[in-house]
Amino acid sequence: MYDIVIIGGGPAGLSASIYSKRFGLSTLLIEKFGIGGQAILTDIVENYPGFPEGIKGSELVNKMEEQAKKFGVEFLIDEVLGVEIDNEIKKTKTNSSIYESDGLIIATGVNPKKLDIPGEKEFTGKGVSYCAICDAFLYKNKDVLVVGGGDSAIVEALYLTNFANKVYIIHRRDKLRAAQYLQEKAFKNSKIEFIFNSILKEIKGEKRVEKVIIQNIKEDRIYELNINGVFIYIGLTPNSNLFKDKINLDENGFIITDSEMRTNEKFVYAIGDVRKKELRQIITACADGAIAANTFCKDFSDKC
Ligand code: NAP
Repeated sequence: MYDIVIIGGGPAGLSASIYSKRFGLSTLLIEKFGIGGQAILTDIVENYPGFPEGIKGSELVNKMEEQAKKFGVEFLIDEVLGVEIDNEIKKTKTNSSIYESDGLIIATGVNPKKLDIPGEKEFTGKGVSYCAICDAFLYKNKDVLVVGGGDSAIVEALYLTNFANKVYIIHRRDKLRAAQYLQEKAFKNSKIEFIFNSILKEIKGEKRVEKVIIQNIKEDRIYELNINGVFIYIGLTPNSNLFKDKINLDENGFIITDSEMRTNEKFVYAIGDVRKKELRQIITACADGAIAANTFCKDFSDKC
């Protein structure tokens, strides 16, 4: 029996674990894959205070993990299959066991959205990727296409320019959504070419991606572009399926909380990217984690 179980080991879950352990609460953090979450897939984090030269996403979360371990947080790498949260004792069922706790913090994060176009599924891992950090080295001196106009698309396109010969960015509008400083970097980069007002219709090839079909929606023109890789960054889907019908979600599946991270279920909190909020950044994930641990500590015990 734990005071608190945290599901998810990204920056939000790690921060919650550090704070809850330091409040004197017994804390178990369960993570499915490996500690770090989406942050580990980010090349350079330039906007986390304290690192004026930027820091590798993997390095930043490794430091957070080290810090949590130093304070005695227990870690478990296992998949959570279900939760029971409507009783006083919360039960988290994993592949290996059932873990009981007084409180539960959900930090399950997000997954990349899919385009759902012909060829996307077929060529995933064969030229279609959702992770430039993982796959960019495969495209040394090759031509790649990045889909999307948000921060992720631009950050990852910039990273790809370290390897690829040419990086096209296709965006459905004529204006990017990404932060201004990222836009400026991308516009200045001679390896990047923008394809605005256009959508990807199909991804084609024999064994691997060889070309894509593009539609310019302003000119209603359809054409082919020879390409070796397609990197898709069109937003995020919350990992909240486990909690559907158990706690309140918004229309897109993000978990609704109050400003102190409480969900509608007593002693159940949600933090980080899976939570309905405006700004999804490492720093806001960490802040959510600290707040949730503090809220639980106050709601539940007299330790805070
Ligand atoms: P996002 O901000 O939701 O942007 C998604 C982009 O994909 C938008 O440009 C959108 O077009 C486009 N899009 C969505 N659905 C599409 C479809 N079906 N077909 C074609 N294009 C489609 O997602 P994100 O870039 O992954 O960022 C997610 C969050 O993480 C944001 O809050 C972002 O600020 C944060 N983040 C921050 C950094 C950083 O370094 N500061 C880095 C990465 C991510 P429209 O613009 O037309 O809607």
